[in-house]
Amino acid sequence: MSIVQELRRYGVRPSKKRSQHFLKNRKLLERMADYADVRSEDTVLEIGCGIGNLTEILLERAGRVVGIEIDERFVRILRDKIKDERFHLITGDFLRVEVPGFDRCVSNIPYSISSPVIFRLVELEPEVSVLTLQREFAERLTADHGSRIYGRISAVLKTFANVEILERVSRREFYPVPDVDSAIVRIIPEPSVFPEHRDFFIEFTGIVFSQRRKKIKNLVRKELGKRAGKREMRQILKILGNYGDLRAEHIPPEKLAELSDRIHGVLYG
Ligand code: SAH
Repeated sequence: MSIVQELRRYGVRPSKKRSQHFLKNRKLLERMADYADVRSEDTVLEIGCGIGNLTEILLERAGRVVGIEIDERFVRILRDKIKDERFHLITGDFLRVEVPGFDRCVSNIPYSISSPVIFRLVELEPEVSVLTLQREFAERLTADHGSRIYGRISAVLKTFANVEILERVSRREFYPVPDVDSAIVRIIPEPSVFPEHRDFFIEFTGIVFSQRRKKIKNLVRKELGKRAGKREMRQILKILGNYGDLRAEHIPPEKLAELSDRIHGVLYG
């Protein structure tokens, strides 16, 4: 049965607000599992199971699948359709629920919450994540400094992980057809380059990328000035050195991470 027929049979209409666009192409879903190299000893996380097209493929390969789905209508369908006890379904918002341990993440995620999903995955640190994302967003994740589309999320993600676009996916592969094209992205953490103080780094990038046109020393002075004394601020500006006169978009991720760790030392060391 096709996705369209199946949705009709269950009498549910996908909601745009919840980014409900289903991948129709089974071959493509199988390739996503291939890219994540899902094996029988793995627990795989799926964010937004929908009516379970990808879930069923993951269950054929993984030892266990943890699914998180916010829409009660789909939760009912999933419970009716998938009787496998290796499927652990959690009803709720991925950004709020407690996520049990897992090894890999394979998901066609809701695009409306792409950025927070990525930040949460950075925290949860699976061995690999294979995700379909809006194509422009995927390009932003992989952008280098100096590029017009390099931003906070590019800097954060590149500091934690190796990110690659594996495939471009046409909007026609989805039902209902969305307004944007997609891409399949693979994210593999690289702990060797993690900044020491991760939470502060995420905060620091939030500050320096908050106004793209401004020099980072002005943003740092304004935002960290509330926390730092005069003497500390002088030290911080010294650490920034010539980088202080640049905009964040011109600074490579590893340099931002280094600056962030050193500033953390001044503030909390
Ligand atoms: N994986 C399915 C469905 C993708 S559509 C497929 O490829 O066919 C995105 C899914 O994410 C929908 O089922 C939607 O209800 C769900 N969703 C949206 N916001 C969510 C959230 N905050 N937490 C968990 N699931 C969410």
